Amino acid sequence: SGRLAGKVAVITGAASGIGKATAAEFVRNGAKVVLADVQDDLGRAAAAELGVPDTACYARCDVTDEAQVAAAVDLAVARHGRLDVMFNNAGITGGTYAGGPIESLDMADFDRVMAVNLRGVAAGIKHAARAMVPRGQGCILCTSSTAGALGGSGPHAYSVSKTAVVGMVRSAAAELAGRGVRVNAISPYAIATAMGKRSVREIMGFSPVGAGAEEEEEVVRRVIEEDFNEMGCGVVLRAEDVARAAVFLASDDARYITGHNLMVDGGFSVG
Ligand code: NAD
Repeated sequence: SGRLAGKVAVITGAASGIGKATAAEFVRNGAKVVLADVQDDLGRAAAAELGVPDTACYARCDVTDEAQVAAAVDLAVARHGRLDVMFNNAGITGGTYAGGPIESLDMADFDRVMAVNLRGVAAGIKHAARAMVPRGQGCILCTSSTAGALGGSGPHAYSVSKTAVVGMVRSAAAELAGRGVRVNAISPYAIATAMGKRSVREIMGFSPVGAGAEEEEEVVRRVIEEDFNEMGCGVVLRAEDVARAAVFLASDDARYITGHNLMVDGGFSVG
């Protein structure tokens, strides 16, 4: 039972943060999930927490390697007979969140960010479509960011990659609408995940280890949960809020919704 009863999903970036929370929420709603990531220990532990291997399993999948993305999709199909939901969620911020002037843009860093955040999403859409189009149904979700909708709230490469994800979602949605496959983006605002906390540490100029690390951790948490979430509908944004938005978009309740970018941002983008 559940809103995703019987559905089969692949989630990239599922060892941590939003992806991990979404895997749990999907399973709670009756889905079978392949958790794909490059952090093997965390990924295996996350899958194990979700119960019997038939419900959730881990697959190593570096989204910058198309063959590994194809293999994750094929694994879901081999284990469960089909793919209903592909959540292209893996992402990195790149070099340093504090960024720097565009005159000193690091092109190698730019390429690395694009390889994960954009090319990785393209590969995910491609191989999900390969599995979904012959069945005439399926749902593809891609994680963008408020940084994508607004620009200018992160390092250049990161913002550009997230804007491009929305463009790719619209393009793929247009092509796949007539073939039964929906494609949507989800754009969260700041969340205290591993990435979110690392970004704030960089902005504040904190080093990841060393003396005062514990107090710094508390400062980082407060910046994200109190300062960043000041508007925020009176609540602090959690990965679980994004997960529940993903459940809705992946469910048949959203069967006529495609090409959309769902902001999960407490009003940040309209403020
Ligand atoms: P996170 O760091 O907790 O999780 C990201 C996961 O992606 C990690 O487990 C990491 O190992 C994985 N990953 C990185 N590179 C990969 C690769 N090449 N192949 C496969 N997996 C890879 O961060 P998160 O906040 O959960 O981020 C998830 C998504 O949400 C990202 O796309 C991020 O840009 C987006 N996002 C995050 C925030 C935020 O404030 N945390 C806000 C808006 C959007």
